[in-house]
Amino acid sequence: MMAAIFAAEAGGDVTLFERNDRLGKKLRITGKGRCNVTNNCDLQEFLSNVPVNSRFLYAALNRFGTDDTMAFFEDAGVPLKTERGKRVFPVSDKAEDIVSAMKEQCRRAGVRVIYERVRGLRIEDGVIKGVFADGAYDFDAVILCTGGKSYPRTGSDGDGYEFARRAGHTVTKILPSLVPIVEDGRLCASMQGLSLKNVQLTVVEKSSGKAIYRDFGEMMFTHFGLTGPLVLSASAHMHDLERGKYTAEIDLKPALDEKTLDNRILSDFAEFKNKDFANSLGKLLPQKMIDAVIRLSGIAPDKKVNSITKEERTALVRLLKHFSVPLLGFRPIDEAIITSGGVSVKEINPKTMESKLVAGLYFAGEIIDVDAYTGGFNLQIAFSTAVLAGESSAWG
Ligand SMILES: Cc1cc2nc3c(=O)[nH]c(=O)nc-3n(C[C@H](O)[C@H](O)[C@H](O)COP(=O)(O)OP(=O)(O)OC[C@H]3O[C@@H](n4cnc5c(N)ncnc54)[C@H](O)[C@@H]3O)c2cc1C
Repeated sequence: MMAAIFAAEAGGDVTLFERNDRLGKKLRITGKGRCNVTNNCDLQEFLSNVPVNSRFLYAALNRFGTDDTMAFFEDAGVPLKTERGKRVFPVSDKAEDIVSAMKEQCRRAGVRVIYERVRGLRIEDGVIKGVFADGAYDFDAVILCTGGKSYPRTGSDGDGYEFARRAGHTVTKILPSLVPIVEDGRLCASMQGLSLKNVQLTVVEKSSGKAIYRDFGEMMFTHFGLTGPLVLSASAHMHDLERGKYTAEIDLKPALDEKTLDNRILSDFAEFKNKDFANSLGKLLPQKMIDAVIRLSGIAPDKKVNSITKEERTALVRLLKHFSVPLLGFRPIDEAIITSGGVSVKEINPKTMESKLVAGLYFAGEIIDVDAYTGGFNLQIAFSTAVLAGESSAWG
């Protein structure tokens, strides 16, 4: 939609093809239905949130940056607000308002919308001639912006990668990113449904012992493993998650150092000194975690609290500060927020978004091999590349 609006405003006679029976199906579910439309940060901070091919985006972000996105929606009648982490949302908390504003801008710019599935590109002698949908259509320029492969029921099921391949483009390995993670074992399953707030998650690469991700926030145990904002963000830092490669370490009490936590446990133990160990953790941990912690602590559940040794307590402190979950792999790409990989940036002119292989073919959005962390960066990338592609295609 953004590419169509800017192409039409630049003088193009624009047709937008959409395979669904309405526009913006994925956009409607972004940000849990609230649409985190961009991030209110400067260019350098923006680029530091794009782990793959950030340099490719300089021209696009210079032409249409985060300020431009905010001005675009405010001018279109959608007031915005900035929340924690500089995430920008509509004041109404309704993604629907973003979709309506874009549809209205399409209408005002004179964009024709055809609800048909594009089945291929028409290319002759290295020059774009149009597309095949339910019929053959003639165009001087085509912008391929079919999205990624995640959440395919929204319409983005990877069609565009195949079109790009057939046009001679390289499509790098397609992998899920910002995706829930499957555990190696059955530890999380026993705590499914439990959501932890204010914990620290560290992902450790076992071979090097290096922490490849660390942050504070919220996460959740499920029947398959781990999900929630921290886990989705962590997944973007793990390429090719293979069994045995990574362990998730959860610090259940990040506000307390080991000594303070030990004192806290000591005072709980003093209160429960004549009880069994199994009945002494209720003040420290959520109910659903207690069985797992007892099992992993190595302390017999029926041991009297007043006979727990200092060594056992030290081990318990360590367990609470480094609660480890071995990781097996990602959930399927269908459940990923974004697709990592895509049309190689080496074959796209970053100043115009035009293909270096096929004249008149342009790319925009998630189909390109660029992806970012959560925080509104992925939509901004889609908008910036779309504006550049839209204007360049109209100006020829
Ligand atoms: C659950 C969820 C929440 C998200 N939340 C956020 C968020 O809050 N902030 C953020 O920045 N990012 C978010 N994202 C990521 C963001 O939605 C995508 O990166 C972004 O939508 C990509 O835009 P796009 O235009 O490239 O592709 P899409 O939005 O996927 O649009 C592609 C369009 O092309 C159509 N299409 C595909 N193939 C064909 C074909 N052959 N013929 C005709 N039409 C076709 C599709 O139907 C679709 O309408 C979220 C993603 C998901 C799944």
